[in-house]
Amino acid sequence: MRVCLLVCIWLWSLAWAFPRIGVHQGFTRLVFDLPSKEVQHSLSQENGLLVLILRGVKAASLDQVVNSSEVASVQTLPEEGQVRVVVRLKGAVEATVRRYSDPERLVVDLSLKKEASTPAKPAQVNLDPPRNRPPRPPKPVVLLDPGHGGVDPGMVGYVVEKEVVLDVALRLRRLLEKEGIEVRLTRDRDAHLSPDKREDLSRRAALADSSQVNLFISVHVNASPTRTARGVEVFYFGRAQDPRVLAQVIRENGGGELGKRLTQEAQSVAERILSDIVAQANQRYSQRLAETLGRKLSQTTGSPFRGTFPGDFFVLRYAKVPAVLVEIGFGDHPVEGRQLADAAYREKVAQGLLAGILTFLANGAYAR
Ligand SMILES: [Zn+2]
Repeated sequence: MRVCLLVCIWLWSLAWAFPRIGVHQGFTRLVFDLPSKEVQHSLSQENGLLVLILRGVKAASLDQVVNSSEVASVQTLPEEGQVRVVVRLKGAVEATVRRYSDPERLVVDLSLKKEASTPAKPAQVNLDPPRNRPPRPPKPVVLLDPGHGGVDPGMVGYVVEKEVVLDVALRLRRLLEKEGIEVRLTRDRDAHLSPDKREDLSRRAALADSSQVNLFISVHVNASPTRTARGVEVFYFGRAQDPRVLAQVIRENGGGELGKRLTQEAQSVAERILSDIVAQANQRYSQRLAETLGRKLSQTTGSPFRGTFPGDFFVLRYAKVPAVLVEIGFGDHPVEGRQLADAAYREKVAQGLLAGILTFLANGAYAR
């Protein structure tokens, strides 16, 4: 158990590497999540090294092997009042630097200069696109997680949660693919990933950990003790602030004693976000995704938007990309429950989620 915990902490610290590094066809992208607008940066390149200084930033010392076409390794060196980032290059590179706000970040794209790739090397099969073409932005990949499935029906009211969320996810996949977005599903039929809830949620979370995924959206149906609540709620990972949310978190984490145990585990991860600026940056992205999804879903379906909330959801605890759990409506409300049972309404739900995802992506909030 202890060994597992240590391994988990180690994996978790890797997940929050500074910078985040994305290897793409034709370029390597470094994304630095910054604590404020006041951070100043400067860049220089000589002798096969690119050196970036970030003033007003703290980061842990780190040496990452990258081994892309452009970059051999990236070293992060904390210094007095600043961080020095040393990038070992594989040739002369063109660096494109962009700053984004809300949340604050610096994105550095590195592509090899044209002349650098021609001489020296003997003829070889080169699958990369021609160097004079600007790098194509990577196709976004969205991981959809229809909650529950198989032995676990989720909430049962006017609808069965596992059936409704699968139907919505399949509809949303079709809509997203039409927009040129790649979609992966944690399940595409009525099946659990494991009969053991902890293992089931861990496998879903692990799929979100793939370096290919840009967004993680877990889809659920809500329930209330009085069966009178209705509306849309969206959650991102963090400490649950009120008892009502905590009760809901425990239910989605498996319910009963098991749900409480998994919630406690997730809470210890949520605590650590407080001291990690990179994890906090991802939390802000996730919160923003939650707000965008919630508003668009509410606008499209007419269901009231009840808000976004932090919650200690086991399935979201290690996500290193914007990740949310969306409750698309209350399956035990006499009106909303019956709406969710209607295929035309579920199509509207999928369209609302699509609008939210497209808006979020269009705002350039994801860069990796
Ligand atoms: Zn659920």
